[in-house]
Amino acid sequence: MTVTIGVLALQGDVREHLAALTASGAAAVPVRRRAELDAVDALVLPGGESTTIDKLLRAFDLDGPVRERLAAGMPAYGSCAGMILLADRIEGGIDGQRTLGGLDVTVRRNAFGRQVDSFETDVRIDGIPESEDRPVHAVFIRAPWVQEVGPAATALARVESGPAAGRIVAVRQGSLLATSFHPEVTGDTRVHRLFVEMVREAAASVRP
Ligand code: GLN
Repeated sequence: MTVTIGVLALQGDVREHLAALTASGAAAVPVRRRAELDAVDALVLPGGESTTIDKLLRAFDLDGPVRERLAAGMPAYGSCAGMILLADRIEGGIDGQRTLGGLDVTVRRNAFGRQVDSFETDVRIDGIPESEDRPVHAVFIRAPWVQEVGPAATALARVESGPAAGRIVAVRQGSLLATSFHPEVTGDTRVHRLFVEMVREAAASVRP
């Protein structure tokens, strides 16, 4: 089944996600308008700056429509800033910063601290079978971590070593997926393939 996945294209690394989704077998389109949102089966919220994307969502009158689609069960995947946007609760947001919500987690913005603003490490992600033989190389750029996972959500990956060892960096709740890191910049499409599979499953249940 071909699924159409939008990438919210207000700010951030939109092109990289479009390429990774296309490589993962989905039809991928940028979403800037309501009509474009209405035409997709699922939405990716890219990495970038969550405070800016929050403001632009409101300026483009997209925040209400995206919230409605999420509430109606549209699958979504957020990387980094996108993870912040999908979180029900944030720590370290700026005054008035809002999230779209959906994931029963508390996300801590810029959690890894100034000294380790950006770093790379390998992680194993539940639900990615190949990760047994080859971990996913995770690139973190001023990334959040998941401070707390509520009962509705499940942690899929943790940092395995170093000062942030044990911190949760990937979560899932039904057809919502979020990572602190940026799989779209590594050429490894396994996270995107997992999401495309989630979208196919969700689409199969509404259009059998
Ligand atoms: N620190 C950014 C924020 O708060 C996220 C960084 C990223 O997406 N690479 O939105």
